[in-house]
Amino acid sequence: MTHASLAAQPLPRAWNYGTAILFGLVTLGALIGVPAFAYLYDYSRLDWAMFGLLYVFTGLGITVGYHRLAAHRSFDCPNWVKAGLLIAGGWALENSVLKWASDHIRHHAHCDREADPYNAQRGFWHSHCGWLFFDDPYADDKYASRSGQDRVVIWQHRYYVPIVLSSIALTFLVGFLSNGWVGGMGCFLLAGVGRTFAVLNSTFCINSICHLWGNQPHGQSDSSRDSWWVSLLTFGEGYHNYHHMYQSDYRNGPRWYNFDPSKWVIFTLSLLSLATQLRRASAETE
Ligand SMILES: [Zn+2]
Ligand SMILES: [Zn+2]
Repeated sequence: MTHASLAAQPLPRAWNYGTAILFGLVTLGALIGVPAFAYLYDYSRLDWAMFGLLYVFTGLGITVGYHRLAAHRSFDCPNWVKAGLLIAGGWALENSVLKWASDHIRHHAHCDREADPYNAQRGFWHSHCGWLFFDDPYADDKYASRSGQDRVVIWQHRYYVPIVLSSIALTFLVGFLSNGWVGGMGCFLLAGVGRTFAVLNSTFCINSICHLWGNQPHGQSDSSRDSWWVSLLTFGEGYHNYHHMYQSDYRNGPRWYNFDPSKWVIFTLSLLSLATQLRRASAETE
């Protein structure tokens, strides 16, 4: 066997038991605990309102904060706005922004190859969530070096666990104040566990569905695809083919009629002088 063919062999991957157990608990809680509570006690309007509010807040935290701001630097903003966006993203339980952005930059740099953390060539389940359950032998600190110089990113990384715990405490507290222990459990299950499961899976669809099914109107240099309906669940991230071709653009759906709430949020922030330096690809792409 030549040196070149040895190098091409995929590196072995060891189980990451911590992530596998955590994800298993969230999944069991969402698929068994959430409906069981509905059967026994039912959810209040407050629980559903908190579910909707936190779905939007944490979903935008990932798309606007983790993805377009931290990973791609498609715009700039004051530190307090950045801190708010990164707390919202932290509440989605997708790791600290330092780790998330590092994985994501590597995804763009090595798309469809072994060093792509969510390589869709390994199939739907690997790219959707299977990749999380194994330590990644291709992880490399160099992809975190740029965001590692941002003190808000470092702060969020350091306090990631308290940030996550604060979201759990918030859901329980809101329910508890309205209806005691049963109210606390209901709000925690629906707006905490159920919502986390929903946001995790909608984010996962971008790595799986948007690399397997859909159109490629902007380029075919990798497997990225536009799936407009995924945008309905992910605040605009379904226009993934455009995003891969023009990574630094603050928009994923560049046309005015593309359903891309994340770009509308960023644009609105810019009108309020809370976002600056919005980056767009050249005019021909519009
Ligand atoms: Zn992608
Ligand atoms: Zn990206």
